Amino acid sequence: DAPWGELSVCVAGTGITGASVVRALAPLGARVVVVDGADTDAARSRAADLAAHGATVRLGDADTLPEGVDVVVTSPGWRPESPLFAAAAAAGVPVWGDVELAWRMRPREGAAPWLAITGTNGKTTTVRMLASILDAAGHRAEAVGNVGTPVLDAVLARDEHGAPAFDVLALELSSFQLHWLDPWTEGSTAVRMKAAAVLNIAPDHLDWHGSPEAYALDKGRIFAGAEVACVYNLADPATEKLVRDADVTEGCRAVGFGLGAPAPGTFGLVEDILVDRAFVPDMRNEAAELGAAADVVPTAPHNIANALAAAALARAHGVSAKAVRDGLRAFRPDAHRIAHVATVADVDYIDDSKATNGHAAAASLNAYESIVWIAGGLAKGASFDDLVVGAREHLRAVVLLGADRAVIRDALARHAPDVPVAEVAETDTGAMELVVRKAAELARPGDTVLLAPACASMDMFSNYGARGDAFADAVHRLPGADS
Ligand code: ADP
Repeated sequence: DAPWGELSVCVAGTGITGASVVRALAPLGARVVVVDGADTDAARSRAADLAAHGATVRLGDADTLPEGVDVVVTSPGWRPESPLFAAAAAAGVPVWGDVELAWRMRPREGAAPWLAITGTNGKTTTVRMLASILDAAGHRAEAVGNVGTPVLDAVLARDEHGAPAFDVLALELSSFQLHWLDPWTEGSTAVRMKAAAVLNIAPDHLDWHGSPEAYALDKGRIFAGAEVACVYNLADPATEKLVRDADVTEGCRAVGFGLGAPAPGTFGLVEDILVDRAFVPDMRNEAAELGAAADVVPTAPHNIANALAAAALARAHGVSAKAVRDGLRAFRPDAHRIAHVATVADVDYIDDSKATNGHAAAASLNAYESIVWIAGGLAKGASFDDLVVGAREHLRAVVLLGADRAVIRDALARHAPDVPVAEVAETDTGAMELVVRKAAELARPGDTVLLAPACASMDMFSNYGARGDAFADAVHRLPGADS
């Protein structure tokens, strides 16, 4: 229990996370120095804001450790090999993530238990499903973490009576945030979840973590110390391995979820009904029905799996089957996740701009029969061979865009040489407009034009949302579309 007001803290990054750290610590009297390598107009405007909250901000030098610092608190995106962390290690100064700090600062009385979710894909969707379920159960819950409200803000939030504002938190944690957690061991006070889920593991962010093994290990930290349940994907052995390898609280159960008929102790589907055979009085003989798969939006297989994972965490927290059913039925996905934009000339246009890696794109490519696939952007070092092999039966044609489109073009040439491919360079003006017009030309009635880029967007757009918006705008401008 550090006396927070006496600490001298270096915060890495002036973004959303850094700001939440400043808001938490500066009012308590801590000395807070925020460092950021950028010295742009945007960074200066953020810096002014942080200074107004009582922080000292140093722009343009992210590498050297300020004098007299007790701890560094980092933003998730900062790379582990950053010189600032090397300097901290050399000086014997610990580095925490914002999640670690939130855990240490959480109220000791009436603190909300944490239900946490990670995975390569589906985190935001699943955490919002979980929040919707908790809401239906009458909890004061919030989806926090990587998804919106920083964990620290949620942990410190108070209601009008000064009590903690939430009685349970649904946390989305990225592999970066998990990387910075102190490891839990028996008897330690490190972060531990009431229940945690790993949805799936596919190659992503390998440039940050260094290797697939290191990436998986960081994801696995979510299970360390878990109290009630470790939830894993029956279709993804890598997630089960993380549960097996985890050091957990005695009595914590491993609970699998999958799309098949559930074995005792797991979640699954029986005649298109979601079913719990784990959190029932007698799991060998009983099952709790959690609603119809058809009520999960979008009703794609990967998303029904997400719903089962959210249900498993909620049930681990003691939520009734009825609240799970109501919460899943009330849930609606965020924008740019398999969103139907329009139907023009009997062709459906779907925006899955959030599919920023091959694993996510594979899920939506699997959900449609005959597709004109729009893909490309920044490939982040990924290979596309498996994706193309898995999807080629569904492809009417492909329109490629963006900086790394050649990598996908080569994979298509190797594995789907008969599929027509059109290309638009990232430097072309009105590139997305050209892409959508080409896709419309290539589509036949009954087809789906699917934006599922399997790549990051930052070569051409400020983020995946802007890419999806550009797509939707271009679709609405097609001849015959009602705009
Ligand atoms: P995250 O927060 O992990 O990025 P999102 O819920 O925002 O996850 O979804 C990211 C992308 O992954 C979307 O394109 C979505 O359609 C796809 N997706 C969602 N759930 C899954 C899943 N279980 N498996 C594969 N892809 C998924």
